[in-house]
Amino acid sequence: MWIIANWKSNKTIAEALDWLAQAGPKIPKNPNLTVVVCPCFSALSEVKKAIIVGNFPLLVGAQDLSPFGMGAYTGEEPAQILRELITHAILGHSERRQNFGETDEIISQKAAQAKANNITPLICVQGTDILIPQDCELVAFEPISAIGTGNPDTPENANEVAKTLKEKNGQDIQVLYGGSVTADNVQSFLTQSFLSGVMIGKASLDVQEFIKICKKALENI
Ligand code: PEP
Repeated sequence: MWIIANWKSNKTIAEALDWLAQAGPKIPKNPNLTVVVCPCFSALSEVKKAIIVGNFPLLVGAQDLSPFGMGAYTGEEPAQILRELITHAILGHSERRQNFGETDEIISQKAAQAKANNITPLICVQGTDILIPQDCELVAFEPISAIGTGNPDTPENANEVAKTLKEKNGQDIQVLYGGSVTADNVQSFLTQSFLSGVMIGKASLDVQEFIKICKKALENI
């Protein structure tokens, strides 16, 4: 089961370290639970160090990466460098598609860069017609109407979408749900047979709420 914390453009390095100091010792250690925290690029290095020092059961992910390798691409963060810090990268989030004009083609280029550098892409799709790049097996269904609105999809519909995504893209893909998940509703998603976890934005910023979410997830393993 997956729990992915997407902090978006939030938390200074000091705030990230404070979150880790509180959450790290309380995240359940379980071989069937994978918790990935995705801070801003500028906090990745410190977050990674704190996780190693604390021996916390957390992986580190980025919220994006460059469609190019190393070279003359000012401002971009290439997978070849990020690989030292992260195991996962969120790609194709609706906020990037909307605000930065990301297309399926760019997302496929980014996914290829990630895979070539041993980083697992987490492809965000907003419906069943969005392209999932080849060999990408971790997918998050995140309906735009549910992102940051406090208005989640129904667990039943999210489950149906996950079923369709698997039918279209192969049963090997694992589908997560994201969009206004909280400690109060997380179980209703985690009990759906075609869902393999959740991606959490706003509720992951609040350390106590996030710990509660992880503990509830454990009850469903
Ligand atoms: C997200 O944007 O990936 C997300 C899950 O956001 P929220 O939980 O805030 O709806």
